Amino acid sequence: MKNFFIFSILCMSISKMSCASEYYDIFWGHLSPLEREGFLEKIYGVDVVFHADFTNLEEKDFVIGKVSAYLLWADRFSKRYGKPTCEQKETVLHIYYVSREIINDRDIMHFLSWSKWNNKNIYGAFDSTYSPKGTATIFLSSTHSRKDVDETIKHEIYHYWQYRICQVLEETSAYQFETYHVVK
Ligand SMILES: [Zn+2]
Repeated sequence: MKNFFIFSILCMSISKMSCASEYYDIFWGHLSPLEREGFLEKIYGVDVVFHADFTNLEEKDFVIGKVSAYLLWADRFSKRYGKPTCEQKETVLHIYYVSREIINDRDIMHFLSWSKWNNKNIYGAFDSTYSPKGTATIFLSSTHSRKDVDETIKHEIYHYWQYRICQVLEETSAYQFETYHVVK
């Protein structure tokens, strides 16, 4: 009952999210009200909610710019792998851009399958299993170099795209996507 109460309070404070995941409870508890609420950007028809405390506007432009570019690129790239197996799932993408200490805290991020990557520290992760219904989530470490953040966004956005078009979430094409470039 106590857990349910805490969960309810969290849900009330996360106004824009559909709230159905107790798995994220501890994680949400470590965010500031600003990070919890997030802000919505519609990018190429995808609803993306950024949960970040962007005091640096240049950094904000950088992250949003990369997410935008890679959503477009993922669409193009995925078409090389045959037809999507479903109509695109209307899935709100939540991106949590928070410190590496939070992302790599095993107690906070207990729902991630750490054993899958030999319990190594990560730069980011994609989750569609425990994310609230109708949503998918990218966890992104904000405390790495721009190059690392860039590569992580690119990789995790591709997993989101695999999920959105009902492809199996596998690594081979996600790594290939990392080397994919669209020349303007
Ligand atoms: Zn991956």
